Amino acid sequence: MPHLMNTYGRLPVAFTHGEGCRLFDEQGKSYLDGMSGIAVNTLGHNHPRLVAALSRQVGRLMHTSNLYHIREAEDASDHLARIAKMDEVFFCNSGCEANEAAIKLARLYGHQQGIDQPAIIVMEQAFHGRTLATLSATGNRKAQAGFEPLVSGFVRVPFDDLAAIEQVALHNPNVVAILFEPIQGEGGINIAHHEYMRSLRTLCNEKNWLLMVDEVQCGLGRTGAWFAHQHAGILPDVMTLAKGLGSGVPIGACLAAGRAAGVFQPGNHGSTFGGNPLACTAALTTLKVIETDDLMTRATELGELIRDGLRHGLADADGIVEVRGDGLLIGIELDRPCGDLVKRALAKGLLINVTADKVVRLLPALVMSDAEGTELVALLVPLILDFLKE
Ligand SMILES: *Cc1c(COP(=O)(O)O)cnc(C)c1O
Repeated sequence: MPHLMNTYGRLPVAFTHGEGCRLFDEQGKSYLDGMSGIAVNTLGHNHPRLVAALSRQVGRLMHTSNLYHIREAEDASDHLARIAKMDEVFFCNSGCEANEAAIKLARLYGHQQGIDQPAIIVMEQAFHGRTLATLSATGNRKAQAGFEPLVSGFVRVPFDDLAAIEQVALHNPNVVAILFEPIQGEGGINIAHHEYMRSLRTLCNEKNWLLMVDEVQCGLGRTGAWFAHQHAGILPDVMTLAKGLGSGVPIGACLAAGRAAGVFQPGNHGSTFGGNPLACTAALTTLKVIETDDLMTRATELGELIRDGLRHGLADADGIVEVRGDGLLIGIELDRPCGDLVKRALAKGLLINVTADKVVRLLPALVMSDAEGTELVALLVPLILDFLKE
């Protein structure tokens, strides 16, 4: 028996290697990867440019320290700041750490405004991570149960509901920021209306609050724009990234702009590993390949192909609530819990996921081909149809 702590209910498979959107298990069986390790493997598996860049970097320098200048981090920060139109980047190692940085930044910003008990507005069904503060910001009672006392200073409202936030604005003088996902991933692929996001921007300007977007899952090209909030034409004050940023090498980032820039000074925050040369090479290479290979256009086109195929194939089925998503962030909501589909898909050589009990989630790599997209639909549709007939 392996000695791993029992934190995951794992599927009965282990992979030995991968190529593009294919993974191979210990028996040599091949799988079509519709999950990309939960939106992590942006460039698929074994991407030649990423492998070459990382191999070169491993042989030169993997880690120094933030006690020194790190040119790879400076380059990655320049690239991120340019595509996000934001000013500053703090590098860390994961999504929850990026959100921890955002939460601390908002609190410090509040204290600088003379607010001693700063509060952050967060959403129902939100997912922001598993550390204590990000778990407290997460809108899932099941994930929180047993870990009380939670971190205070969060005010929860329904997602995509402007009136609810306006109510809080009227009565709570301690609010300093709003933190939300433009598209909720773990929560079931719930898409914020663009008008709602624009209204939040206006409200934050009026109230001097920070608008903080968690793009850990929906960012980095997946929705056909660099970042999902850009579809609404807004600029946030703070943005968090991780998952797809390093195409498999752990890295997270917290970006700040405008009023949020300059809040952190030396001594306020830090990370031993954060922004190390290896991780930043992975991030910079990922960003460059997305750009040179026009993978954002691919995400838009392939997302439409997959959603159209699913809608067509499932059109006559009883039990489909909605096929939705943006680009390669796709959800199929059923009218019943459907976790069992994951095992059935695995048996057929397809990797999918179910989130929020009833939503089949697809997060393919941005390098998936049309043929693979068509294959994904052809494998998945009969599985769902059979499941719904039982
Ligand atoms: C996955 C996720 C996180 C947490 O990221 P970790 O790297 O697992 O800590 C935070 N926010 C969102 C939106 C996520 O999808």
